[in-house]
Amino acid sequence: MNIQKNLLHIKEQLPDDVTLVAVSKFHPKEELLQAYEAGQRVFGESHEQELAAKHEALPDDIKWHFIGHLQTNKVKYIVPYVSMIEAVDSLRLLREIEKQAAKHDRVVPVLLELHIAQEATKYGLTLDDCRTLLADGEWRSMEHVSIQGLMMMASFVDDEAQIRSEFLTAKAFFDEVKRDFFADDDRFRIRSWGMSDDFPIAVECGSTMVRVGTSIFGPRVY
Ligand SMILES: *Cc1c(COP(=O)(O)O)cnc(C)c1O
Repeated sequence: MNIQKNLLHIKEQLPDDVTLVAVSKFHPKEELLQAYEAGQRVFGESHEQELAAKHEALPDDIKWHFIGHLQTNKVKYIVPYVSMIEAVDSLRLLREIEKQAAKHDRVVPVLLELHIAQEATKYGLTLDDCRTLLADGEWRSMEHVSIQGLMMMASFVDDEAQIRSEFLTAKAFFDEVKRDFFADDDRFRIRSWGMSDDFPIAVECGSTMVRVGTSIFGPRVY
């Protein structure tokens, strides 16, 4: 794997205003360092302990995005240093982030994770649950959480039309909640969709943040 070459190749395909999150889960820190030396500063991890170890060992100016399913009892460990929690899928989790972030006098940027894909196993809020969470309004009183956009994963299928239609559903939903809840909030502007296999389609469908692992670091060894 030539990590630096892979990174460059992906960067070339991304418009300047799309953020690349290098998904480094299950890859050793030496490989992250190679990406870092090529200029990459945003990394995505999905396990709290692995993230903690890498955060300890690697340079301070890395922005760590937590992209996995986050259990409420793990929030306290990552809140002191994480740059963004991408996959918030319940009010309960949002409340816990608020509580822990307040202790550290921080405002933690988060994305709400949508469940649009067909697979039953995926986490995330249905569109209706997301509407309900936002309409309920408790989040407005949370001073240590900043909801900055939406995140989702398309179905793991080969059918490009299916993938495209899921991304477009996410984009339309983003426009709806932007209009209904965040019209005056400039921070709400992130659309995190697109992974190794589908990020070019995602970008065509309005993604502003892609999370790419395998195409940078090669296959993960679990
Ligand atoms: C692992 C993971 C990715 C990266 O997947 P690749 O196919 O390796 O690019 C992106 N997003 C989430 C939420 C992930 O868990």
